[in-house]
Amino acid sequence: MKPLIEIHNVSLRFGDYNVLRNISLDIMPHEMISLIGLNGSGKTTLLKLMLGVFEPDSGEILRHVRQVGYVPQKFEFDRTIPFSVSEILRVYNRVSDKEVEKKLKEVSAEMLIKKTIGDLSGGEMQRVLIANALLSRPDLLLLDEPTSGLDMAGEKDFYCMIEDIHKKYKIAIVMVSHDVYMVFNHAQKILCVDHGLVCHGHPEEVKKHKEFERLFGPHLIPFKHHLSHGDTD
Ligand code: ADP
Repeated sequence: MKPLIEIHNVSLRFGDYNVLRNISLDIMPHEMISLIGLNGSGKTTLLKLMLGVFEPDSGEILRHVRQVGYVPQKFEFDRTIPFSVSEILRVYNRVSDKEVEKKLKEVSAEMLIKKTIGDLSGGEMQRVLIANALLSRPDLLLLDEPTSGLDMAGEKDFYCMIEDIHKKYKIAIVMVSHDVYMVFNHAQKILCVDHGLVCHGHPEEVKKHKEFERLFGPHLIPFKHHLSHGDTD
């Protein structure tokens, strides 16, 4: 199977600052990947390299992907624009009302169809943006910290929704996440970034990795607490 994206020994700097160093990885079709790392470790930058917003200073990125759907961490827009969710999604993607409704249903956001786009909460906006990304029929979906504004219950629902989308569309998904506990319960593959790719693999392998312990050790107390109570969900 050919990778959707091949990243070969890629480095990127902003001025004198080496943000990403010698990253090599493949994104395979239908993979579900969680990208974790501390703040400022280069996760968003790596996502933007995959997207083609940034080009590397050295190394090579080969994109065999047909269509990428992208949901940014923050989406700035003029909140006074008087259009509804349905109007925006329909016009932007050139699809029918029915298709918009179907996609909104899949992300549990069908009740938002008539809402004015400027009135959406952060969590509602994330779901609408995912519906929008799905309407472009991507084979790769890139999500940048989509759960950052959600409480724990909302976050769990969100992960379940993403798992359903992954199963239904059989697309690859790369999701930046700040919640290590959630990631360990839901991810199939983890990429741990600290300017370089410090460890990667199945959650069970990553958990044992020294670099993971070094980066996340102090943050893992709630995670261990949950597991010690046999709560794996
Ligand atoms: P993360 O997503 O892991 O929090 P980012 O990839 O957003 O980290 O940023 C990594 C580092 O690169 C940060 O120090 C950030 O300030 C810097 N950075 C990100 N984008 C730019 C840019 N366009 N120009 C200059 N510095 C940037």
